[in-house]
Amino acid sequence: MARVWHLTARPDGDLDPGIFTLEDVPDPPLGDDEVRIANSWLSVDPFMRGMLDDHGGYMPALPLGSPMQGGAVGTVIESRARDWPVGRKVLHNGGWRDVAVVAQAACEAIPDSAAPIQRYLGHLGMPGQTAYFGLLDAAAFRPDDLLFVSAAAGAVGSAVVQIARIKGATVIASAGGADKCAALRDWGASIAIDRNAPGTMREKLGAAVRGVGAEGISAFFDNVGGDHLDAAIQHARVGARFALCGMIGGYGRGDQLVLDQPMRLVARRLRIRGFAAPDYDDRWAEFHEDMLRWTLSGDLVSAETVHEGLAAVPAAFCALFTGGNLGKMLVRL
Ligand code: NDP
Repeated sequence: MARVWHLTARPDGDLDPGIFTLEDVPDPPLGDDEVRIANSWLSVDPFMRGMLDDHGGYMPALPLGSPMQGGAVGTVIESRARDWPVGRKVLHNGGWRDVAVVAQAACEAIPDSAAPIQRYLGHLGMPGQTAYFGLLDAAAFRPDDLLFVSAAAGAVGSAVVQIARIKGATVIASAGGADKCAALRDWGASIAIDRNAPGTMREKLGAAVRGVGAEGISAFFDNVGGDHLDAAIQHARVGARFALCGMIGGYGRGDQLVLDQPMRLVARRLRIRGFAAPDYDDRWAEFHEDMLRWTLSGDLVSAETVHEGLAAVPAAFCALFTGGNLGKMLVRL
């Protein structure tokens, strides 16, 4: 039997781990070109929130009663796929369960290196790819940038801050709480903004920009939307480049940004670009080479918040939306 988390109720107000149910599912025999994988680490990610409502949106809606899915790394324990022998470490999308049956075409080999395999769910995986190309391509990064990064202490944001530092930019970063702000400074942010501290985000970003003696930000990597995007528009230089990565401040709430001075977009000649990690799948090797080198050299630090055991998956997922993670949120089996 495999043990698999299913979506059995829709969210109603604040996210509640009780909308998920753990069920025993018979382990099917393998078909041609399939492998059975014992998962060792599971990922929970904000995008999964988009599957839970009945209307879908950013992600297609998951029918009630469906098994949850998500990133996972594990070891092949049975194989009918020529390229995937027993013992091979793989990255795949059969998460939220202890054992998964996956087609070989849907598995990726984890390269042999000194990096821990769970990094392939974080800085060496999808969140790292998001940070790397979102910053360097979508935001058209320049080493002389004054960059603002929101939700900067999480999986994506922590990589953005450090890549920008490695490449020489000045970074203003926001997160929730004093401990997260201390981490942002350790990773190279010149100024850390505590989103939970008194004052509006406009006021806090304005003070940060003045604190580094600048007239405005030249680039923005946005994970939050809402008041963070509003503040960035208010404090942008002419020609500033915005990469819109996500809007977690509004997930499940619908309280997105209302532009109160839209002419600023025109007057400041802002360049605003949304993007998604898969846009860059064909450039994976380029991202992996840089991120692995920085990981192994210690230039790039990967914080992790680890929950233990399959039973902990829903709570770990829900805690993403109350700031319960520093770095990548993971579940270890
Ligand atoms: P994180 O590791 O950053 O975890 C989520 C963090 O968001 C929390 O720890 C919290 O940090 C912050 N947060 C939660 N609720 C709110 C809120 N209401 N207002 C402001 N901040 C909030 O997640 P990821 O790094 O995986 O993802 C970050 C963003 O990137 C998300 O918006 C996600 O959807 C997006 N994303 C987009 C991708 C793409 O392809 N475009 C791919 C991957 C992610 P704190 O306590 O510090 O505020």
